[in-house]
Amino acid sequence: MTTIQHWIDGAATSGDSTRTSQVFNPATGAVQADVLLAEASDVDRAVQAATVAFDEWGQSSLSRRTKILFAFRELVNSRQRELAEVITDEHGKVLSDAMGEVQRGLEVVEFACGIPQVLKGDYSDQVSTDVDSYTFRQPLGVVAGITPFNFPVMVPMWMYPIAIATGNTFILKPSERDPSVSMLIAELWAEAGLPTGVFQVVHGDKSAVDAILNHPGIAAVSFVGSTPIASYIHQRGTANGKRVQALGGAKNHAVVLPDADMEFAANHLAAAAFGSAGERCMAISATVTVGPAGDMLLDILDKKAREVRVGPGRNAESDMGPVVTAAARDRIVGLIDSGEREGGEIRVDGRGLVVPGHEEGFFVGPTVIDQVTPQMEVYREEVFGPVLSVLRAKNIDEAISIINANPYGNGTAIFTEHGGAARKFVRGINVGMIGVNVPVPVPMAFHSFGGWKSSIFGDHHVHGAEGVRFYTQAKVVTQRWATDDVTASFDMPTAR
Ligand code: NAD
Repeated sequence: MTTIQHWIDGAATSGDSTRTSQVFNPATGAVQADVLLAEASDVDRAVQAATVAFDEWGQSSLSRRTKILFAFRELVNSRQRELAEVITDEHGKVLSDAMGEVQRGLEVVEFACGIPQVLKGDYSDQVSTDVDSYTFRQPLGVVAGITPFNFPVMVPMWMYPIAIATGNTFILKPSERDPSVSMLIAELWAEAGLPTGVFQVVHGDKSAVDAILNHPGIAAVSFVGSTPIASYIHQRGTANGKRVQALGGAKNHAVVLPDADMEFAANHLAAAAFGSAGERCMAISATVTVGPAGDMLLDILDKKAREVRVGPGRNAESDMGPVVTAAARDRIVGLIDSGEREGGEIRVDGRGLVVPGHEEGFFVGPTVIDQVTPQMEVYREEVFGPVLSVLRAKNIDEAISIINANPYGNGTAIFTEHGGAARKFVRGINVGMIGVNVPVPVPMAFHSFGGWKSSIFGDHHVHGAEGVRFYTQAKVVTQRWATDDVTASFDMPTAR
């Protein structure tokens, strides 16, 4: 059995860790590795190495940083399939989806390759007689990222390319459920020429996370994961004086108006609800149909849901793979049961699905539940599985009210041909990322990603300009070189 180690100070190491956690292949249900769980002393070693590395990296030229970023970009690009295979074997998602995940992460690396342009400061000539002012931004120091299982390459890539490009050193604490790919990423950074200690990986559970949150040598923490943990990370991290961005869970709604192209909407909703087995923070898990749209949509959607080919992620014929663990499958099935008990109409039922040859795999089939209300548990909970709840609304105002009453505010989408209705929706909805006839509106790397309400704690979204701001702090310099005829004054300085 393989034991997955940490990557500290330029090498794979067991450190002081003795505890381990099992890593499964979700398609077969078999344990395929153990991952070490770090102790506080392992985190401390990583922080020491990162602190030493920061002395040099924080002073490195933009041209040196970008050369390494470009080299890393080439390596990730050329090893995309290998990275995707490692994701599929531990996460379960289909290989083409894993390839897409690497591609979306790579876009952030490409954004970071342009850091000299993005980091350019401001300069004001002659703010007072013979006085100029300029602003520029400098790195924070050692920063950490704590990431979820559902995008083991892309979500860390929302963070470290920008953190490193702006001169910080970065410690990644990936999910213990699919940790291997982060070790491959560490090797690629080393191959790209990144100095030792600038990028490190510490595996672990709550103990490692708490060691990060408590460590005085870590200046900032980026977190992506579920809402209760995001809230905890934000509270504890900020109480310890760190800058924290903590992205939480989601309940993403689509609204379908009667004028929508129903074939288009059903196709895209099936992909958005069942792609990656619904384990995306931007998956659509609730659809609010307006008036007659409900019956029109469901006639087509049921068929699309039944057509989804469920199987192992390595099988090119599969549209959708298993969910990540047996516990996740059992929880999802329990939520479908509760939906049925509380009056939902199960139109397509994914419970009890068996994939021939993979009887022990963690599979749940696509599920469509109609007549769901906001009071039901299957609506209130983030299911994080291939389950689409359908709610009925009389008009667009009621649809907007339902969504705005939901505690989450990550993503949402509207399907309509009516520009005015779409505009009303975009302006009135309390959600951070909105799609108009785009069901999974994940922003490109040069825009920022982040939700509202309980989907985020902290002021900064990730990547794009927000990411650059998060990982840097501003300096404003006011300078004077001609001092001959300047008299000192005890009054507040004003321009002359
Ligand atoms: P999770 O919250 O269980 O774990 C996330 C990270 O926190 C992991 O690294 C884990 O080791 C750590 N962790 C878990 N329990 C902890 C505890 N008690 N104390 C300290 N640290 C702990 O999330 P997950 O199941 O890995 O991922 C799925 C969740 O992530 C979903 O809720 C999903 O919506 C969310 N997510 C959100 C976004 C977003 O952009 N908002 C993106 C991806 C995933």
